[in-house]
Amino acid sequence: MQDPGEMAERLLARDRSALSRLISWAENADARYPAVLSRIYSKVGKAWRMGITGPPGAGKSTLTNVLIQELRKRSERVGVLAIDPSSPFSGGALLGDRIRMDERTADNEVFIRSMASRDSHGGLARAASDACDVMDAYGFHSIVMETVGVGQSEYDVVAAADSVVVVLCPGAGDEIQAMKSGILEVADVLVVNKSDLPGADLLIADLEDAISMRAFRRNSDASEWKVPVVSCSAAKNQGLDDLVAAIDAHAVWSRENDLDALRRKKRVAQVRRVVSERLEEELWGRMGNTTRAEELLEQSVTPYDVAEEILGSILAPPMQSAQAAAEQPKRGD
Ligand code: GDP
Repeated sequence: MQDPGEMAERLLARDRSALSRLISWAENADARYPAVLSRIYSKVGKAWRMGITGPPGAGKSTLTNVLIQELRKRSERVGVLAIDPSSPFSGGALLGDRIRMDERTADNEVFIRSMASRDSHGGLARAASDACDVMDAYGFHSIVMETVGVGQSEYDVVAAADSVVVVLCPGAGDEIQAMKSGILEVADVLVVNKSDLPGADLLIADLEDAISMRAFRRNSDASEWKVPVVSCSAAKNQGLDDLVAAIDAHAVWSRENDLDALRRKKRVAQVRRVVSERLEEELWGRMGNTTRAEELLEQSVTPYDVAEEILGSILAPPMQSAQAAAEQPKRGD
């Protein structure tokens, strides 16, 4: 049974097995994890966190691999978290082979770890953010989080990153049109990968137009970050220096624009996730509400009425009246 204090010390001394173990603690919402985080928290915040997302097949895995090499050229220690939000049914086969190489990678300064939703008790976004904290305290200069798809759960995960990179490729026209506004909302850097294929220039021009239009609509001024569109070919290892330069520029801009405040907002999101997870556990685990729901349903009460009854028992009267009082002025608006 490892003790949190000893594990924290080993992590800070750059012990790789402690790193692995603590990421598992984070992933499993182990009761010892909060005590570890308190001990390592003063060392968290030095790494630059990048989130890589985009539709399947855009080339995220290929790009992540060459990005690691590019970052290693400047002698950085790189930690990679490959996020696979697959259902228990698909079993995460998508990432399987690459990740089996995992922590056995030949380069001692690179660490690759996969994380699947089925393993993260509670939320993947909470677990991923915790795992990044562990890697950060260990002393990685860069942390790359890579997701499999481009849905809401992937956005939630990468939203914890300092720089969100969205990877697209030519040939997925309709799909990209459909999700363009969502992409522009989350992206700090846009990558058009597979620049060796026809249609890349058109996609770049289209994205640049969309970025300008959005800036115009929002009345953006020069101080706002202007999302760059980087063209590259991960397979041919071209344009990666431009991608690193774009991420660096975003890091410089963020530091000049109150990075601490930006990061605090992301920390608030993490607090909310931890609170929600704990509440959920308490509600359905310890407080006997599952049994209560079953009993009520046996009496042919509708699920909504059961929910009301349970809510009524949780929201004690003083809380309800305080809430009602707070809402009162709004009604008069
Ligand atoms: P992911 O699903 O986004 O992680 O995409 P992958 O990295 O698995 O790549 C999907 C396919 O696109 C693979 O067959 C890659 O070899 C290929 N691919 C990746 N990058 C490029 C590129 O720059 N050019 C071309 N032509 N193919 C690429």
